[in-house]
Amino acid sequence: MTLPIYVQGAWFVGALLFILGLKGMSSPASARKGIVWAGYGMLIAIAGTFLVPGLQNLALMALALGLGASSAWISGQRVKMTDMPQMVAIYNGMGGGAAAAIAAIEFAKGDVHSPVATTLAVLGALIGSVSFTGSCVAYAKLQGLMKKAYRLPAQNVVNVVLALSALGLGAAMIGLAPANPELIYVFFAVALVLGLIVTLPIGGADMPVVISLFNAFTGLAVGFEGYVLGNPALIIAGIVVGAAGTLLTQLMAKAMNRPISNILFTPMVASGGGEAIEGTMKELSALDAAALMRYAGKVIIVPGYGMAVAHAQHKVWEMTSILEEAGVEVKFAIHPVAGRMPGHMNVLLAEAGVPYDKIFDLEEINGEFGQADVALIIGANDVVNPSARTDKASPIYGMPILNADQAHNVIVIKRGKGTGYSGVENALFYTDNCRMLYGDAQPMAGEIIQHLKTMG
Ligand code: NAP
Repeated sequence: MTLPIYVQGAWFVGALLFILGLKGMSSPASARKGIVWAGYGMLIAIAGTFLVPGLQNLALMALALGLGASSAWISGQRVKMTDMPQMVAIYNGMGGGAAAAIAAIEFAKGDVHSPVATTLAVLGALIGSVSFTGSCVAYAKLQGLMKKAYRLPAQNVVNVVLALSALGLGAAMIGLAPANPELIYVFFAVALVLGLIVTLPIGGADMPVVISLFNAFTGLAVGFEGYVLGNPALIIAGIVVGAAGTLLTQLMAKAMNRPISNILFTPMVASGGGEAIEGTMKELSALDAAALMRYAGKVIIVPGYGMAVAHAQHKVWEMTSILEEAGVEVKFAIHPVAGRMPGHMNVLLAEAGVPYDKIFDLEEINGEFGQADVALIIGANDVVNPSARTDKASPIYGMPILNADQAHNVIVIKRGKGTGYSGVENALFYTDNCRMLYGDAQPMAGEIIQHLKTMG
């Protein structure tokens, strides 16, 4: 069926806005605008879909849209910044599930005939199903609903057998098209179980990379099903999401020095690491921390997951402003996997109003720690752990870290002696030039501010 020009036009404009939106999201300065543009793109694409002639079940479509939009609106309003990764996981899973559902309906109707369309529908169904159940497991783990990583005795063999079975069943569906209902049921069951079984053994620290990988899968599945439906907006949106998800997965895996194959087949196990740590942790007061920074020439702040937990970003920015007014040069050093999701620290600092020209990536700032009088670490741990450079037994061995240990003085704000996400001790906290300021990051930053104000 040739669609009316206004439907095609709406889908084209929608797709264009998706691309512009993604371009906007490439920088924190324009990210908010990018999201709004992509949102308008989606609205226009949906409106265009309602104008397709001869649509059936309009009431059901409107009901589904109403339910989806209202629950997304409410959860979007309520979600805490620290819970954002699991929200991304569940939304991504819904996308994969929707792509698989489109394929299921097309197969059930017996509407897919050509070998190309059948192949793409099968691939989309397989990838979308894996992404759906895998993302649900990722959500359950990050939300704390599933506390353990479940690993089968011959996990990798089971993974391979399931993957080959799903591919074999998919090939049979292509060969027999239109396939009989039993074959379709078994294919979807195996594909859904595959997503579950692959994701269950993966630990929490690797989960954001897995979510990003499933995001790429969902994009691909949506693109394939877009071809099956003859919907260019879906094809373009799917390809854009698939490409962005693939790049993000690669960047995160590189930043954690964990090849994707290791993440999927050799999950990270927290251990104490192999190197013995010498020295003791030495405390300092908020007054001493304030004085060290007030009379410093250069301070580099390293924020981490603890700053997000404490919602300390506004206080940190207030402290920075006071230091700058006193003539201290202050920079922010951001590790690519600081926090619990890509760009976590950038988003928080942007929310607090920290100008982008004060925020530096690992490669840009790592050479400057040697000239810094103070490295102030706020709720970061793994991303400044020097044993990642030397301790081959450590689960974070090989991960590039911020060279905070090279600063003349290191101040660490954290609540106690808790380890970071990887579960390993941090040798930096025991070094001679490091002092611990124990407490929740927000009140501690507040105390430093009070002392700075009295120092004039
Ligand atoms: P981290 O290693 O998880 O350490 C966070 C530290 O913050 C903890 O040691 C904790 O110590 C402290 N903390 C917690 N709540 C606090 C509070 N309210 N006030 C002050 N301190 C608090 O964090 P990170 O250095 O940001 O490293 C991120 C980790 O997550 C890395 O291992 C990374 O590989 C992993 N990860 C991140 C991503 C991503 O996309 N960003 C993806 C995958 C994995 P106390 O309990 O003693 O306070």
